[in-house]
Amino acid sequence: TPDKLRQLIASYGPVAESQRARRAVFSEDEIRAALERREFLPYFQPKARLADGGIDSVEALARWRHPQAGVVAPGAFIDKLEGLGLIDELTWQMLEQSAAAWKAWAAQGMEFRISVNLSLSSLEQPGYADRIIFYLAEQGIGSRHFVFEITESTAMTDLPHCLENLTRLRMKGYGLSIDDFGTGYSSLQQLAQIPFSELKIDRSFVTGACASETTRTMLASSLDLAGRLGLSSVAEGVETRQDWALLKRMGCGYAQGYFMARPQSAADLPGAIARWTETHRALSAAAA
Ligand code: C2E
Ligand code: MG
Ligand code: MG
Ligand code: MG
Repeated sequence: TPDKLRQLIASYGPVAESQRARRAVFSEDEIRAALERREFLPYFQPKARLADGGIDSVEALARWRHPQAGVVAPGAFIDKLEGLGLIDELTWQMLEQSAAAWKAWAAQGMEFRISVNLSLSSLEQPGYADRIIFYLAEQGIGSRHFVFEITESTAMTDLPHCLENLTRLRMKGYGLSIDDFGTGYSSLQQLAQIPFSELKIDRSFVTGACASETTRTMLASSLDLAGRLGLSSVAEGVETRQDWALLKRMGCGYAQGYFMARPQSAADLPGAIARWTETHRALSAAAA
């Protein structure tokens, strides 16, 4: 009906508007200067084991510590960096800082697996995987400690080269994760072609899944698929106790979301994990 349609348009309008505004804010010069000044840094968000609430993995998510705008989220700069051909430089800075964080935590007796987001466009370059492998080996970090999450907003243009790099990473023992599974190009087709080790279910199938039978069915099918393919499963966008409980009942492996912790600076991560551990203890006590 026209009313429904108007509601739908109204609900999309402001989002499109604010995204356009956010994109226009930062100029190419400003972004190039920020990369040179190394204003980008990783924030870390835990992935918690649903079985016992334990946290052994974190995802590195890019933030821009902007001198005027404060801490800026990647929605405002990733696409722009991709368009300018600068995404590799960002990835590299994330990798270096994630490796440094890994070593600092390890020195304090905390061993995390760190997931770094890779853009598929980077993986078209021959020898890209070897650069990563060489760098992490040089840092003395074993391959089991790093996972690469792959997302793409457009179709792969040079699949053979991507596959060569991805296979190389996987053969070396790094984890490979299909990010935002179920949306965009994060599809069954990619799942069939790339040697993934982890399936990350997009938050659109997770947040509030308890309320929708259809969403719960798709969630269950994705978990079943992950299990049959021998992949570990991660649900993103776990925002409530109900989301957590549902995923636990469904046998999902890991949960990531605001219910456990928001992305944190490296310094704030241990505190956030301690708070979650308390929450989880209370939750388990209440359930027992
Ligand atoms: P992603 O890799 O799927 O990361 C998950 C996003 O969901 C993060 O947004 C995270 O803050 C957000 N999130 C986590 N838990 C919840 C929740 O419970 N509810 C809701 N509503 N959201 C949640 P963020 O940090 O803004 O990153 C957005 C996207 O930007 C990432 O999505 C990823 O695709 C991209 N990105 C971030 N860092 C990098 C990077 O270093 N390189 C590349 N190539 N892309 C990156
Ligand atoms: Mg990711
Ligand atoms: Mg994701
Ligand atoms: Mg996502």
